[in-house]
Amino acid sequence: MSTKIKFQIFESESTFLDPRKKYEPTTEKFQVRIDPLTGRTGHFSHFGAMKAQKLDLESYAQPALKGFCPFCLENRGKATPKFIKEIFPEGRPSKGEATLIPNLFPYDVHSGIMIMTDEHVVPLSGFHEKRLSDAFSLGIEFLKRARTIDPLLPYHLMTWNYMPPSGGGLVHPHQQYFATKHPGNQFMDELRASEAYYATTATNFWQSLIEEETRVGERYIGRVGTSHWLASFVSFGFHGDILCIFPDVFSIDDITGDHIDCLVSGLSNVFRYYESIGIYSFNAALFFGPNDQKSFPCHFRITPRTFLNTRDFAPDMNFFQTILAEPICVKLPEELCREVKNFF
Ligand SMILES: [Zn+2]
Repeated sequence: MSTKIKFQIFESESTFLDPRKKYEPTTEKFQVRIDPLTGRTGHFSHFGAMKAQKLDLESYAQPALKGFCPFCLENRGKATPKFIKEIFPEGRPSKGEATLIPNLFPYDVHSGIMIMTDEHVVPLSGFHEKRLSDAFSLGIEFLKRARTIDPLLPYHLMTWNYMPPSGGGLVHPHQQYFATKHPGNQFMDELRASEAYYATTATNFWQSLIEEETRVGERYIGRVGTSHWLASFVSFGFHGDILCIFPDVFSIDDITGDHIDCLVSGLSNVFRYYESIGIYSFNAALFFGPNDQKSFPCHFRITPRTFLNTRDFAPDMNFFQTILAEPICVKLPEELCREVKNFF
């Protein structure tokens, strides 16, 4: 089946006199790829040179590092806010260990924080399917409720910083859920590009991406129920991003318990892969587009994060990402796909 999707790779190289080889000329290769949806570029270089740093998770529970945690059970009842009764009369709704609170420092009209666990420090192996399912289910229920209360807020998303390298301010596992008019530049770039693709081709980019990646076979990781898991052609994080697409879910109203089961099951596979290669931290997001459209399906992205070292805790993002808005990745998505596939 023909497709309008282009996977453009510009391979190049740079030559220098190498002090490691008695100043013999050495040539190193790098790539620039163009995101087939947004047209934005991403660099691939420094292959294999950057390793995820091991985190001493036990140390995060020590009083000196732990400090005051408002999400821990002994503080939660006094230190965290409650929802107004029009949103959740019970104040802090819960499901299993998952407890939802409004953000004391809101980023939007509806800005919820999901405290995912009772425990303060939870390794990836601790995110069993019930914990994940309860958190996603309750968070999505919140977004559906926000949509009913405020139908003029068209976009919904979940975001998640896990462990300090990701920028997460608290080690205690938590996600953020937003109903918003302003979901961020990446969301809006993807949404507009998806609409433009639909307008010019009369096809859905994401459906075409699944078909084309399945045909090419280099970045298609696997299918879990109705969800499709891919290694992203351009990645935001150092180790490569994994994408999950739900082609039959467009807005928050469309997602069901079965979809959440697929997300949880696939994510559990990703976590087992991360554990196997020593990835301790990530950013993740789940995007829901507006109602009444068929061009921008729900999708999930997970991006590993690390410190460059644990001597001075240099972050893995620098001027490239913060000023040039250019991601750098040290892992080719085709290699990532080959590795993750073993866990699906
Ligand atoms: Zn805590």
